[in-house]
Amino acid sequence: PLVLGIESSCDETGVALVRGGELLVDAVASSMDEHARYGGIIPEVASRAHLEAMVPTIERALAEADVDLGQVDAIAVTAGPGLVGPLTIGAAAAKALSIGLGVPLYGVNHVIGHAAVDELVHGPFPERVMALVVSGGHSSLLLVDDIVTGVTELGSTLDDAAGEAFDKVGRLLGLPYPGGPHIDRLAREGDPTAIRFPRGLTAAKDQAKHAYDFSFSGLKTSVARWVETREDAGQAVPVADVAASFAAAVADVLTAKTIAACRRHGIDTLVVGGGFSANSQLRELAALRCAEAGIELRIPPIKFCTDNGAMIAALGAAAVRRGIAPSDLSLPVDSSMPLTRTTA
Ligand code: ATP
Ligand code: MG
Ligand code: FE
Repeated sequence: PLVLGIESSCDETGVALVRGGELLVDAVASSMDEHARYGGIIPEVASRAHLEAMVPTIERALAEADVDLGQVDAIAVTAGPGLVGPLTIGAAAAKALSIGLGVPLYGVNHVIGHAAVDELVHGPFPERVMALVVSGGHSSLLLVDDIVTGVTELGSTLDDAAGEAFDKVGRLLGLPYPGGPHIDRLAREGDPTAIRFPRGLTAAKDQAKHAYDFSFSGLKTSVARWVETREDAGQAVPVADVAASFAAAVADVLTAKTIAACRRHGIDTLVVGGGFSANSQLRELAALRCAEAGIELRIPPIKFCTDNGAMIAALGAAAVRRGIAPSDLSLPVDSSMPLTRTTA
């Protein structure tokens, strides 16, 4: 079946077509340039951008794949989590297409989509995989028996997401928004062992309740204090060393907990997805530690890590293949859609 996927949970309008396990086209329009000067995503600005970009992006995807709307067998759309206005615009477009074409509609979970997209890149998942989804809004560790019907959340961040922590530290280091990619770049020039920043929730006392949970807000505060102390003493701040030491702390905790979970559950394939999986410190350490542990590491190329339509089409196609009941045409969007629901 030919599935058209629509993503609009944040600042990217994404439209993709998937046939079988094959991605035909992945068209993305971003409004990030409009948000950058505000230092954060402005929901109303994002909503308007989706409204303007939605139809042209759908048309562009169809044209690039040389597909007629009439050939589409199912529509998949992000039902949540995300920003209510942006989600509503994607859902409205998806419902209109579903009704107009007389094809089923599948509302799907954006966070699970960040893992599902890897099937388009590296092929179908083996029977059980571990998925680490790290982005601007989420940091979750998922045990995946089946990407549609068998996702169990082992843990998640108790406060900031990894990308969010990078963006906040970026702000305090005076870097442009979003700070994540800038810290990544600076960190490559610094010494990751220069400053020993705390590793959240890794103490022995946290093992019982929070073995697979993350916490990055204490780390962020610790970076802020370290920088302040330097500035107060009139000393120069070694920005590259701070960035490298901070990035090392985040990558260390994410990979250590994920590999412990793989060991605990006897899993030998790890999928990493979400915007933060573009981070080079995480990619390097994950590759190193997976190799040591005999775990196969699957990380999609960066264009499939940030928000896109392919991840939604991939998850929608997986739902179609499993014969899951389509969503009701009243499909409500859910800004805080839980990971216990893959489809809506
Ligand atoms: P969610 O998927 O949880 O709704 P989101 O859509 O905002 O959140 P993505 O677009 O998947 O998240 O990821 C964006 C985040 O990834 C931002 O916080 C950004 O700073 C971060 N990021 C992107 N590239 C890098 C990088 N190379 N290093 C560190 N962080 C990065
Ligand atoms: Mg984004
Ligand atoms: Fe995302």
